[in-house]
Amino acid sequence: MSGTPVRTVAVVGGGPAGAFCALELARLLPDTAIELHDQEDRGPGAGIVLTDDFAERVRAVHPEALRLPESSYASWNETITMIDGERIASGAFGMSGISRQVFHSHVRALAARNANVRLVRGTVTELPERADLVVLADGAGSELRRERSGAFGTSVTPGRNRYLWMSTPSVLEPCFLLKDMGPGPLVVHAYPHAAAESTFIVEADPDTLTALGLLGLPTAEVESRLAGMFREELAGAPLTARTAGWQRFRTVVNRRWSDGRTVLAGDAAHTVHFSTGSGTALAIDDALCLARSVAGHDDPLRAAAEYESVRRPVAEQMRAEAAESTAWFEQLCRGERLEGHQTVFALRSRRAVNTFSRLRERDPEFVARTVARLAGRPTDAEPVDVPLTVGPVRLAHRMVELERRDGRCVLRGTDGTLAVGLVVDRAPDRPLPGIDFLAVPAGPEGGRVTRSAPAARIRGKVTLPVALLVDEELPRDEANTLIAAARTDLVALP
Ligand SMILES: Cc1cc2nc3c(=O)[nH]c(=O)nc-3n(C[C@H](O)[C@H](O)[C@H](O)COP(=O)(O)OP(=O)(O)OC[C@H]3O[C@@H](n4cnc5c(N)ncnc54)[C@H](O)[C@@H]3O)c2cc1C
Repeated sequence: MSGTPVRTVAVVGGGPAGAFCALELARLLPDTAIELHDQEDRGPGAGIVLTDDFAERVRAVHPEALRLPESSYASWNETITMIDGERIASGAFGMSGISRQVFHSHVRALAARNANVRLVRGTVTELPERADLVVLADGAGSELRRERSGAFGTSVTPGRNRYLWMSTPSVLEPCFLLKDMGPGPLVVHAYPHAAAESTFIVEADPDTLTALGLLGLPTAEVESRLAGMFREELAGAPLTARTAGWQRFRTVVNRRWSDGRTVLAGDAAHTVHFSTGSGTALAIDDALCLARSVAGHDDPLRAAAEYESVRRPVAEQMRAEAAESTAWFEQLCRGERLEGHQTVFALRSRRAVNTFSRLRERDPEFVARTVARLAGRPTDAEPVDVPLTVGPVRLAHRMVELERRDGRCVLRGTDGTLAVGLVVDRAPDRPLPGIDFLAVPAGPEGGRVTRSAPAARIRGKVTLPVALLVDEELPRDEANTLIAAARTDLVALP
């Protein structure tokens, strides 16, 4: 069943993936009949963020897609992190916040303005059989994909943390709020998304929510309790939930993105944790790529194969990044020690590309403050050259070699003094006489966050310095990143 040119396309779902697929197909194939099916918008959510770079790219192809009244946007270049009352500015971001609903209905209406696009309102319950190509762009919870989960090889993995996506009728500064509540922190991702409205996402570990009595309550009660807990940050404004109570983020993965002439796009194909702020961009890029592949091939099966070969590596890379970001927030919410600039540096460097040197280039003031906090005074030294005292040893550098002996290790100072370390994979539950530091092997796989997780977790629970044991040479930039982020105090080379 190949070789039939695509004359009719049914797109199920009028979110960013579906609407942009219809828009781009209409532009490239004006003689193809496109049906864009969308159920009455029951989608969740308040606002989303888009980067200026991405918006620029979209405007280059579809200038109208982001042409909305100024009151529908908010833009910013700096994010504040509030850690237990301390305000820490970081990040030269070019970002905009926009209401998810406003953006979705705008692009859907734009697509429907094309002569060859017909917007069909209603819930699709059966695959549109007559179309030459069916695009399933019906979101993370796609029912039509679920019915064919064997063919697509679908897996859906819920995260540990719970989140509640809310809005507030006031203009907040873009910020992360990390608030220690005793049993654990509440983490807030907040940003304005219109002239008089902001997004307020609260994320926390379920144990923290249970201890605070915030799980299992009616949503209205949760809204008012959270508004009370964040009264100061909200300046007394109320909160309204835009999801049906607490949610677990679901990571959707499909081993195959097409089944015959049915192709997945956007969240139906893959999801990435919202802390990456990139699900919409991925969905739009999928849609543009799919439409271009369809326009470039008579055979829809070849088009689907080409689309998947281009987009899957991008989605996989984003998924790996999102997994690290999810892991970082989950670790934080399980009660990692909050350490001001070090924690903000860890937040920023949870993305692999954001190494010490890159962040220093992009945001020199923030990085200078971070190193000053580490050193206890302003300094030009890099984190690995910030002195540290370990037991009797005064170290001038934090990339060290250890002598290993029977589960213990020894750190030798230049003056011949010795510090004794114990190799552990969990925090000791009693004092350790004669031990000056703990040495923690790096995790076997994953990225920066995952591999350093055991060391960071143990470091958060003890007062002894922690050395991360790596099994291969670590670039100095990476060691600087781990130390500035307080994932470890020392890096011990093999
Ligand atoms: C808490 C949270 C915050 C987020 N923040 C951001 C952010 O800041 N930036 C960002 O880029 N992304 C963000 N995202 C992700 C983003 O919302 C999604 O990645 C994006 O909306 C995916 O677009 P989509 O078109 O694939 O799916 P969706 O936006 O889910 O659209 C699917 C559409 O299909 C329709 N539909 C579903 N089933 C049917 C059916 N059977 N028949 C007809 N129509 C149907 C729905 O009504 C909907 O309109 C966030 C997600 C969450 C959960």
